Amino acid sequence: MEKKLVRSEKLKIVGQISAGLAHEIKNPLTTIRGFVQLLGENKESKNIKHYDLIIKEIDRVNGIINDLLNIAKPKVNSEENTYVNVKNLINDILLLTETQMKNKNIRVFTSIDEEMPLIFTKESKLKQVLINLVQNAEEALGDDGGKLRIHASYHWPMEDLIITITDTGIGMDPQTVEQLGIPFFTTKKDGTGLGLTTSFQIIEDMGGTITVSSEKGEGTTFEIRLPNKKQKR
Ligand code: ADP
Ligand code: MG
Repeated sequence: MEKKLVRSEKLKIVGQISAGLAHEIKNPLTTIRGFVQLLGENKESKNIKHYDLIIKEIDRVNGIINDLLNIAKPKVNSEENTYVNVKNLINDILLLTETQMKNKNIRVFTSIDEEMPLIFTKESKLKQVLINLVQNAEEALGDDGGKLRIHASYHWPMEDLIITITDTGIGMDPQTVEQLGIPFFTTKKDGTGLGLTTSFQIIEDMGGTITVSSEKGEGTTFEIRLPNKKQKR
């Protein structure tokens, strides 16, 4: 099953409403965290039950809220484009996840075209997308391990940069693929269902596309295609 992923107008509105709500929740949450922290510093309540858990959960909610805020952030607020070396970016991400992959018996393969130009884009945004996709692949592989493949290529003369992330994990049925990118859609116990919503939004803002092809029980490939009109070698 292969599908090109585009966000509908309806989903954009859901994203905007969620982000509005998130904004309203963020301030009281910051206050709560501050006071809980104060409580923790107080000698008498030093042994306050589940203190660490409370802080951890507040931080988790805060993380979700930040994701939501990112979804509807106006473009003007976002970072400037710079010339990004995709090979370095991918290597950075793999370095971050190296130990985890080893522990989970995941074998990682990368192939990056030699003749890869620098891409004029927002580095931290692209990094965020790649981290989300790699993390999903890792989760789809589970504890039994398997293969994760990252391939980056440049297609002359279309001036498109293509990055594919393939895993041999659990895969998805067509109904699941259909729902990818809907805010809060998750099949995981601890999932937020915001990773792909954010990722699709970012790639769309960059003028690119994401395509997914997945087979239940076989694995999944996400393909990012980015235009690279203003390039430098
Ligand atoms: P989360 O990871 O928090 O669940 P995402 O937006 O990142 O949220 O992903 C949404 C859902 O898409 C996941 O819960 C999972 O069902 C499905 N999914 C995403 N990537 C993969 C993958 N590589 N293999 C299998 N399923 C995936
Ligand atoms: Mg995810």
